[in-house]
Amino acid sequence: MKKTIRKAFKFRLNPNSDQVQKMVEFAGANRFVWNKALAMNLFRLEQKQPLLWYNELAFWLKLWKSSEDYGFLKTVHSQPLQQTLKNLEKAFKDGFDKKQPLKRIPKFKKKGLSDSFRYPQGFKLEQESNKVFLPKIGWVKYRNSRQVIGDVKNMTVSHRGGYWYVSIQTEYEADIKRHSSTSMIGMDMGITRFVTLSDGSYIKPLNSFRKLSKKLAFEQRKLSKKVKFSANWKKQKQIITRLHERIANARLDFLHKTSTNISKSHAMIVVEDLKVRNMSKSAKGSIEVHGKNVKAKSGLNKSILDQGWGMFISFLEYKQAWSGGDVLRVNPQYTSQTCPNCKHVSRDNRKSQRAFACTECGFKANADLAGALNVLARGHRVLACGVETLVSTKKQEPVGSSDTRQLLTA
Ligand SMILES: [Zn+2]
Repeated sequence: MKKTIRKAFKFRLNPNSDQVQKMVEFAGANRFVWNKALAMNLFRLEQKQPLLWYNELAFWLKLWKSSEDYGFLKTVHSQPLQQTLKNLEKAFKDGFDKKQPLKRIPKFKKKGLSDSFRYPQGFKLEQESNKVFLPKIGWVKYRNSRQVIGDVKNMTVSHRGGYWYVSIQTEYEADIKRHSSTSMIGMDMGITRFVTLSDGSYIKPLNSFRKLSKKLAFEQRKLSKKVKFSANWKKQKQIITRLHERIANARLDFLHKTSTNISKSHAMIVVEDLKVRNMSKSAKGSIEVHGKNVKAKSGLNKSILDQGWGMFISFLEYKQAWSGGDVLRVNPQYTSQTCPNCKHVSRDNRKSQRAFACTECGFKANADLAGALNVLARGHRVLACGVETLVSTKKQEPVGSSDTRQLLTA
């Protein structure tokens, strides 16, 4: 049996100033079309006239484009504008309630808030070179943090917090299978150990990777001393490009092998939600906690590692989807400070980078293993009650996860 899986991938764009200018214009034009069409329909509602649906609105759009006043709409790609009208139609239809007609009336878009536009087609995605093609804007670089899987259905460009983003929606067919294993495992991700599993096993980071990134830093320093755009500079630039490729290939290979092995052995893999982790933990938590030496290193190492983890989880996700297993993301807050045995939360539980020792019950373990056990326990809790309770108090009752205790006593 097959099922269609829909996924969304969001990346930060790195547009140049011309492209930013166009995106601002496009977002403005789409906001204009939304507000204009919405105003027309609200007026008709007031007058108790039937609403205009997409086809009529698209006709109006054509008129506006050919008019002198709204001629600026012509510079904008037409499909996002049509899409905006479709979105408005949907917003009106969704707002209709049988008991209470127009319970939720669509709202006007304000400048600077929810600035966005969607391409239903015409876009291109080049993951190897980290760029997307947006019609009438051109190729735009993006921060490629995870692999996009499936057929791209649409792309939405949006503006938030001073940055532009692209959301890529995809669809793919996956077999519904039963995973050959029934085991469930928790995973902790770190720097001295790439991953530590709750069964006590762990995988070290790729050795060659360290050497290559050192070499990269060295070559980049050399580049900075050369005259920009000179023959020597260009030569040096090429050395760096090739080094980047070597690093990327080595990383991909490592991530594929590692994720395949873990995916084969476990039906349910519980991982830390990296999004939450990046917000709450990594700034002062995990990076320092997982390896002092890394802190002093350039931001490069960190970003490469971060990217590695994100990619690793996305590999696990699609491999699990193929094999009938699953990946569960849980909140990573306090997983490094919580005692897997008695649930006591304290910074003092972390005696050092490597060692966990509970100040309450005396439980001792490798710190990454303790993290993985906590992640697993959270996974059990999510599956049992469907919701995740955040550990916010200093002390909590041990939550009923007999599996964790079994693992500990085993
Ligand atoms: Zn304890």
